[in-house]
Order: sequence, then structure tokens, then C-alpha cells
Amino acid sequence: MNNGQRDSRERIPAQSRRKRGRSLKYVRRHGGVNPGYIIFAVVVILILAVSLFFIFRSKNEAPRATENTADTAAESETPGREEEKTVTFIDVPTSDSAAGDLILVNYDHAYVFPEKDDLVNVYENKTDDFKVAYSDYMMDKNVLDVLISLTHELSAATGEDDLTVNSAYRTLEEQREIYDEYRETWGEETAKLYVADPGFSEHHTGIAADLILVRDDGTALPITRSEAYDEIMRLLRDHGFILRYPEGKKEITRIETEPWHFRYVGLPHSLIIEKAGLCFEEYIGLLKNFTSGGSVLFLSGNGKLSSVPFAESSFAGPGYAIYRVPAGSGETTRIPVPYGADAPSVSGDNDGGFIVTVRFGDVSPSRVVSVGDDVSAFYEKTAPAD
Ligand SMILES: [Zn+2]
Repeated sequence: MNNGQRDSRERIPAQSRRKRGRSLKYVRRHGGVNPGYIIFAVVVILILAVSLFFIFRSKNEAPRATENTADTAAESETPGREEEKTVTFIDVPTSDSAAGDLILVNYDHAYVFPEKDDLVNVYENKTDDFKVAYSDYMMDKNVLDVLISLTHELSAATGEDDLTVNSAYRTLEEQREIYDEYRETWGEETAKLYVADPGFSEHHTGIAADLILVRDDGTALPITRSEAYDEIMRLLRDHGFILRYPEGKKEITRIETEPWHFRYVGLPHSLIIEKAGLCFEEYIGLLKNFTSGGSVLFLSGNGKLSSVPFAESSFAGPGYAIYRVPAGSGETTRIPVPYGADAPSVSGDNDGGFIVTVRFGDVSPSRVVSVGDDVSAFYEKTAPAD
């Protein structure tokens, strides 16, 4: 038996399956009893096992290949097999952590003036749906477009077309002039409550605006006096604006309540902030709990907020995922984006990190405005305890 096996082995060249088969036939033809059959069976089993192994492996790999070609807006790079399935990456300049629609600007976070900005003259782009107090006001182009769009809706729905931009972008010098004027009139302490120190004002960003009413006879009124006040507030919120210094938040913002100062943060952030009754500082603090290494803040298409593990956010249904990525130490910061996410948008928070907002599936902001009272409850549960 041993001999027979050895003989058969010697007759089977190891180089190729084909040759091996031929030798087996040869063995069989010789009527060599058991050894030939046993070797034949063993080889057939081996071939079957190897074939099955490859079949199963290729089946397992099939979805992976699909994923690689799937459409994500992110510039994708796939560093490792394990991560490949759940994440793509965007590289952003680390210095951009001080720029974007979600930057925090307050007494602890000075505005970092960019080399170039995208400011346009408000008056030159004005429509009949709103007014502007001075013809030299400048504003961020995108934000002015949003304002134009929402005042058009307002005017069409309510007839209110006296909404007036009473302050917009301010240079460092302009802020200094306004501040000095307040200080001389009201004293330093009061001035600080209404006018930020030069360099620390949201008006430097170009994405904040003071809004009042100016009637056709020149009467200036707070927007609270408009019959369309509720509609004004709803439209601002639904278009990405927040009331930046709301009532009851002075301890945090260190600015007195200002019912006229609006700040653009974009969607869906304005919905969450306003519905939850947060000030912007609280929201930026909240987002520090949500990271690509842990869970993201998930706003579902029906307005529910939840905390979902980053890797599972792709399967959480239509909605928005929001999370923070700390700024790296090099020139660029690598931003992980969950697989399958649409329209990833990255903004600095001006607090050492980036806020990433991605969308999954067919979800429109108008469908998530139902974001309700549960937001406050959610915030109570997840707010950082400090
Ligand atoms: Zn203001």
C-alpha cells in the first residue's frame, strides 16, 4: 500500500492539474487496485475544496467591489481593507478649521480674517422684497442669496417687505469705531454687552446680519412688531439662520439678548438649534460628543434625533449625520465620511475642529422641520456635563 502510493505519487507530476489527471487515467488503465482510486478520490476532493474556497471568497468580495465603485461625492481613498467597507476620506487644509458656516466667534474665539472672502454689496443685489439701511453694506454672497430667497417667500406670503438689513459685514476698523462710540456713550461695561470687541464680532464673518423693520415713512421698528413676525422667524430658521443671542443665554454668550441679530449656520443645524432652544455655544459643545471614532448625531427624515455609531449611520435610513473631527497637526486634516453619504459638507468650528454634515437618502429640510420637543430631551441627555 505504501509502495503503491509512493509509485502513484511519482507518476503524478506536481506542476499542473491537467498532467495530474492524465497520470491518474494512466494509473486507472493499469487497473492498479486501491492506491489509484484512493489517490484519485483524494485529488478530486482537494480540487473540489480549492474550487469551493475560491467560489465562496469571490462571493464575499462581490459587494465590496460594488462599494468601491459606488457614488460618493467625497474624494475617496481606501487605506485599509476593514475601513474600506464603511468609510471614505476628504482631505482639507487644517487652517480651514477657522472658516465656514459653523465657526464659533465670541469673546473666547477670535475671528480669523481670511486672505480672500466672498463678499458682495447688499444694496446692489437688493430686490423689492427687503430693504437695506446703508448702500455700502457687504455680505457673504451665499448668505445674501439665502436672504433674498427667504424675503421673497415672506413678501409673497404675507406682504411684509420692510424687513431691513441694518448691519452686515464689518471690518476690524468699523467694529472699532462702533465699539468706541458705544463705550463713550454708555461706558465700557454696557458697550461690551452689545458690541463685541473688535476681532471678536460675528459681523466680521459676513454671515451675520442685524434685521429690523423700516416702514416707508422711515419709522424703524424691531421685527417683533411685524404682523408677520412668526413667519419671519420660521423662514429664517428653515433657511439656516439662528437667533444668535437668544433670551436666557447671556451667561454663556456674554452678549445681551439681541432679537435683531441673526447668524447663518445652514441646514439642518438651524432647525436643531432653534427647536432645542440652544445657543450656538451649547450646540458646538454638544457636537463634541459626536465623532467619527464613536457615534454621530443623527437627524432622521421625520425629525428624530438619535446617537448612531459612525459605521452604522449608512444604514440608519434617510437623514443627516453630524459629527466633529479634531483638526490635525499637519497641513491637511483627513476627514472620514461614512460610506454612501451624499453632499458631505465640512466647516471649521473655530474651536480646533471640523463639523461634518452628511446626508443619507432622499431627505429634504422641509421634511425634517417637524423636529420636535424630543430635541430638548435629547440635549439634556447628551449635553456635556461641564
Ligand atoms: Zn449684530
